[in-house]
Amino acid sequence: MKRTTPVVPAEDIRRQMGYCDELRALNARRPVPPLAWVDTYGCQQNEADSELLRGMLCEMGYQISDTEQGADVIVINTCAIREHAEQRVFGNVGALVHGKRRHPDQIVCLCGCMAQEPHVADRLRQSYRHVDLVFGPQALWRFPELLRRVYLRRGRVFETEPSDGAIAEGLPVRRSGKLKAWVSIMYGCNNFCSYCIVPYVRGRERSREPEIVLSEIRALVEQGYKDITLLGQNVNSYGKDLEGEMDFPALLERADAIPGDFLLRFMTSHPKDATEKLFDVMARCQKVAPCLHLPFQSGNTRVLAAMNRRYTREGYLEKVHALRQRIPDIVLTSDVIVGFPGETTQEFEDTLSLIEAVRFDALFTFIYSPRKGTPAAELPDPMPKQEKSANFERMVAVQDRISLEKHRAYIGSVQRCLIDGTAQGPDGGLTARTPGNRLVHLSGAPALIGQFAPVRITGCSTWALSGELAR
Ligand code: SF4
Repeated sequence: MKRTTPVVPAEDIRRQMGYCDELRALNARRPVPPLAWVDTYGCQQNEADSELLRGMLCEMGYQISDTEQGADVIVINTCAIREHAEQRVFGNVGALVHGKRRHPDQIVCLCGCMAQEPHVADRLRQSYRHVDLVFGPQALWRFPELLRRVYLRRGRVFETEPSDGAIAEGLPVRRSGKLKAWVSIMYGCNNFCSYCIVPYVRGRERSREPEIVLSEIRALVEQGYKDITLLGQNVNSYGKDLEGEMDFPALLERADAIPGDFLLRFMTSHPKDATEKLFDVMARCQKVAPCLHLPFQSGNTRVLAAMNRRYTREGYLEKVHALRQRIPDIVLTSDVIVGFPGETTQEFEDTLSLIEAVRFDALFTFIYSPRKGTPAAELPDPMPKQEKSANFERMVAVQDRISLEKHRAYIGSVQRCLIDGTAQGPDGGLTARTPGNRLVHLSGAPALIGQFAPVRITGCSTWALSGELAR
């Protein structure tokens, strides 16, 4: 199968593994194994990238720590989606200067989407001199080489040149969980929604080879993973750079055919590319979870055009209708932005009415945050902050009511849930997920963790269900 996007040659990956060996040999001379801490901000793709960073650090002889205290290497894997998250990163990275004064050999690295923004790299260069290594997402596979450069020369390294990116296979991974796993199927984005920084920092869409994705899923199932999420900025673009018939529904169908008792999820789906073929495959595949995250962003067609989303309000509603015809009890979640530049109160009312019409199970709600370098950041934005906040509160209240109503409808039903952990907080107990990924609290023995079990739903709140084992 020929492809139109680049793949990192195997010999280049081998060279990186050679750097890992070299650093491991150096680290082995230390009296105690050095510690590394990886802190992750943002989306699931960043979580998956951090698992690769931890995998490479382990190969380099570091032990993974769950705290920055005493860490010899600190890696901050950042998110650039919202200004608030960026400010938090700057605050937290600034605070690391004290630890570095106490421990001058410590290496501080900053990577992820923020690192690829030119104004961030400049600020780090000038004002955060305790940061030793800065690299963007496209350079992640070269982490061993970059860290070695800092380690041996103790100089600062910035690897933030813009790049379309390539597919890098064969990197070590250290997964955070034993039940749930992320599998990236593609990287980058070509959509250039006018408010979004991702296409500028994560490069162009490029798909992993289907056989490699499928063998990774197969291996995860054999290791006992029960809940596998396929990741991509827009999974519905999967395969466009691959020659042949491979597209996302075809990949999903082949993943579903892998033997074993597990659930398949995926995110994110751009509505313009979510096809009836995808909905048909979701409906007939046994292991594909009955849930879809389908970000609508605005319920007004003019605003959608200004966002460069390339679908209309009506088009979105038609897709939801087509999906529910095939999977009536689909759990539908979405993202929405309030206060996009130029959005009027009347246009915001269209967002509210779309929420009422669709009745999402849950929403991820955001007030518009301008991102430097995106077209939307240049648009006039006359609506005062207080008005945006008031609209936001109204929207959250509407969705909270709908979420509660939808949760009440579960009461009395028995759901086949994956028991996935213990609850935090004084009451303890177990947590589980319905096939549609709704959180369930229940009591039971920790030995049940990792099993699918029938759970009778007995109560609910806006955010979660509660229940008891039904056997
Ligand atoms: S599809 Fe749009 S919102 Fe999603 S990553 Fe791409 S540009 Fe950003």
